[in-house]
Amino acid sequence: MTRNERMLGYAYALTFKSEHRIPVAAVLGKGSSVIKQSTNLIKTHPLQENQYLTKQYSQSHANSTHAEVIILGNLKYSKKHSLYICRRKKDGTLGLSKPCVVCLEVIKKTNIRKITYTISGTIEVPHYGVMTL
Ligand SMILES: [Zn+2]
Repeated sequence: MTRNERMLGYAYALTFKSEHRIPVAAVLGKGSSVIKQSTNLIKTHPLQENQYLTKQYSQSHANSTHAEVIILGNLKYSKKHSLYICRRKKDGTLGLSKPCVVCLEVIKKTNIRKITYTISGTIEVPHYGVMTL
């Protein structure tokens, strides 16, 4: 099992803590260690309430808070940190969790340069993408 698969597996387990109808979890890793973790929230979060991007581009951000935004906050991270995002569908398989335009803007303000996200498949045989900023 690769590091990407292991970290996505960790995020997958975390999705069960989300109360959102579309459960998503994000894990911030440094090497093989988990530094921080979060699920998406039903309520909006102060961090994104005032972002004009939210209203302009992303309806999905209007009534929820995406896990990537919560995990990053206003903190700066180094190039050694990587973000892993997992979305679980109702049937337990993986859904597309590529960061939306709002989250990407937030991520770009950090020094994080690598994002691994689920596309489809199962957590045993995941299909995932890796985005390098
Ligand atoms: Zn987002």
